Formats: sequence, C-alpha cells, structure tokens
Amino acid sequence: MLLARQGHRVLVLDRARKGSDTLSTHALMRGGVLQLRRWGLLDQIVAAGTPPIRRVRFHYGDEATTVSIKPAAGVDALYAPRRTLLDRVLVDAAMAAGAQVRFGVNVTGLDRDQRGRVVGVVGRDRHGHPVRVQSRLTVGADGKRSLVAREAGAATLRTGAGSGAVVYGYWAGLGVTEYEWFYRPGGTAGLIPTDDGEVCAFAGTSTQRFHQEIAGDIRAGYQRLLKEVVGDAHAGLQTVPPPGRLWAFPGLPGYVRQPWGTGWALVGDAGHYLDPLGTHGITDALRDAELLAHSVGALLTGEDEAAALAAYQMGRDRIAGPMFTPVDQLAGYQWTLPTVRQLLLEQSSAMNDEVEALSALLP
Ligand SMILES: Cc1cc2nc3c(=O)[nH]c(=O)nc-3n(C[C@H](O)[C@H](O)[C@H](O)COP(=O)(O)OP(=O)(O)OC[C@H]3O[C@@H](n4cnc5c(N)ncnc54)[C@H](O)[C@@H]3O)c2cc1C
Repeated sequence: MLLARQGHRVLVLDRARKGSDTLSTHALMRGGVLQLRRWGLLDQIVAAGTPPIRRVRFHYGDEATTVSIKPAAGVDALYAPRRTLLDRVLVDAAMAAGAQVRFGVNVTGLDRDQRGRVVGVVGRDRHGHPVRVQSRLTVGADGKRSLVAREAGAATLRTGAGSGAVVYGYWAGLGVTEYEWFYRPGGTAGLIPTDDGEVCAFAGTSTQRFHQEIAGDIRAGYQRLLKEVVGDAHAGLQTVPPPGRLWAFPGLPGYVRQPWGTGWALVGDAGHYLDPLGTHGITDALRDAELLAHSVGALLTGEDEAAALAAYQMGRDRIAGPMFTPVDQLAGYQWTLPTVRQLLLEQSSAMNDEVEALSALLP
C-alpha cells in the first residue's frame, strides 16, 4: 500500500484467500494504531464496530492495577480488530492505491540473475499454473515460515530462549471493555474486546507445560489454565458458555533475521519475531512496512540500494531491539510477580520510544 501510494508498480502475491483468518490474537499497541490512523484506515476499523479500548488492567496474582490510555501521538484509544477485518482493510487500501493483488498464488522460489541478485519469484496459482514475476525489489512479508527468508539465505542474527504457548477463543456476553492481562507464576491470560461484541480470551503457559498438560486435551487445559490464572477476577468465565472453537499455538522462540540483501527485503515475522506475549507482532509488521517503504521510496528512482536497505535495518533494529530481551524473558515463564512487572515496564518503555520514532517519520 505504502509503495503504491508513492507511485511504484506493486504486485502482492498471497497464497491465502482474501479476508481469511490467521492464527493470532490481535491486540494492537499504540504504534500500530498511530499508523492505521495516519494511513487513513482507522476510521474503517472503527466504523466496522471494533470497540475502542481506553483502559488496560494488569492483574499480578490477586492484585490489580489499571492504566488509562492517555491521548498522545494522535491516539486516544487502542483497538483489537479481527484479522479478517484488519487484513481486508489493508488489502483494499493497497488496491485503491494501485497495487495489483493476486490471492491463491503460492510462492515456491526466488529467481536470481547470473550475479546472484534476486530478480523476482516463481510459484503456482490455485489451478497449479506456473507463475513467474520479475521485480526490482522482492519483499518477503510471508510470516514466520518465510520462504523468502529461507531462499534468500537470510542470516539469523539473534535467537531467543523463551517460548510460550497460547490457546484462545471468542466469548460472547463477557461484558469486558478493557484489555485485561493476567500474570501468575507459570501462566498468563488475557481478555481482548473485539468486533461483534466478542471478547478474545487467551490462556498462556510455557511450551513445555503446554505439551505436558494442555496439548492432550486443549479444551480442558484451556479452562483449567484460565481458572488458575484469572481466579475469581472474572465470574463470567465460569458462568458464560465457553467458545465452541479454540485455537492453539504451541510456541516458537523469538528471532531476528538479516532483513535484506541484493534485490530482497523482509518485513514483519519474516524478519523479526517475538513471542505473542508481547502482543506486538502486528504493530511490528506495520512498523517494518513503513520503515521499509520510507527507506526504499527513493531507491527505485536511482538512489543507492544497499544504503537504503541498510537504513531500513538500522531503523528496525533501533526500535525493535530493546523489546527483544524483556519479551523473550516473559515467554520463558521463569519470572516472579515482582520481576514480571519489571519486564513489562521495560517493554512499555521500548514501545514509548517506538511511538516517538514512528511519530517522527514524516511521509
Ligand atoms: C497465538 C498468537 C497470538 C498473537 N497475538 C498477537 C496480538 O495480540 N497482537 C499482535 O500484535 N500480534 C500478535 N501475534 C503476532 C502476529 O500474529 C504476527 O506478528 C503478525 O501476523 C505478523 O504479520 P506478518 O504480515 O509478518 O505475517 P502473517 O500475518 O503471518 O502473514 C503472512 C502472509 O504471507 C502469506 N504467505 C506465507 N507464505 C507464503 C508463500 N510461500 N506464498 C504466498 N503467500 C505466502 C500468508 O498466506 C499470509 O497472508 C500473535 C501471534 C500468535 C501466533
């Protein structure tokens, strides 16, 4: 969307269908909301019925503390749109900006010239027909199992040790209007008000405990973990009928990859992944997209490619780097109630710096 708005010819390939869901809860942080607003897309999210979140409640064991979302950087509320809504709004905006979007195309490889430069991709459409596309810049925005990262040989610069599992589902009639985060040694939970009056409720624990105690019976494990971590703080979780469908993610340690080379770049999870407990991956992906578009905007009209892509990496790592250790430690579930507060404060401070950096990024 951003490159197309700059006037570049953009082709987007995605193997999924338009408006399909993805395995993810979807709490946006201030940086992500700021970007959606300045791209002119927040109004559509609000008009579709996504409720504003004006307070965040942190539960540490049996103690709770509430933080109000103070208006800053043009943002006076947070939002957690379903991905079926957010992703559709972004795709529509890309198309409106002139990008060509083709769904149902599975990218299976990169094309290189004789000097090894990436010059495009190959793949297959949903009928099995071969697809070959030439491009000046190939951007891998293809998630955690990024084919572009693998085929380009993107080096892993940093690997985390912590890995948390998440099970979540959508509840009707819980009557929650704030983000609520719950922490007890060995477990976490969260309540995320979203579209259609539903609340996404997740329960989390270490990957190891997930495999030992939850994976065998996801539904029973989810209910048990919610009860253990939330306690009596939400009677509704005991009385309202639980969701009919649950989603489970066993976990994956975080990583940072080299996000560019000759002719290619990576954004979002393809280049940088932190555990879902940071509730920041969507904001990361939007931020990287904007930093990349900002850095390479001039490149396509002749500026030095390596310098522009290196500037993108520097911007990404300066903002995202400080979040890595606190989120990795959160995901390790080795914390106590006092130390988890400290980790959250560290992440929050890094997110404030992110908002400042994004605010300073002029079009
Ligand atoms: C359980 C869970 C909970 C989470 N909760 C939150 C949260 O509350 N808040 C938050 O901000 N983040 C959260 N995240 C993280 C967030 O989901 C990701 O960071 C975010 O989706 C990354 O966006 P992306 O565009 O990089 O990748 P994705 O959203 O994974 O998109 C990748 C796209 O690439 C396409 N693709 C992949 N391979 C190919 C191929 N070979 N050919 C063609 N197309 C391809 C896919 O179809 C997909 O559309 C959570 C993640 C998990 C797993």
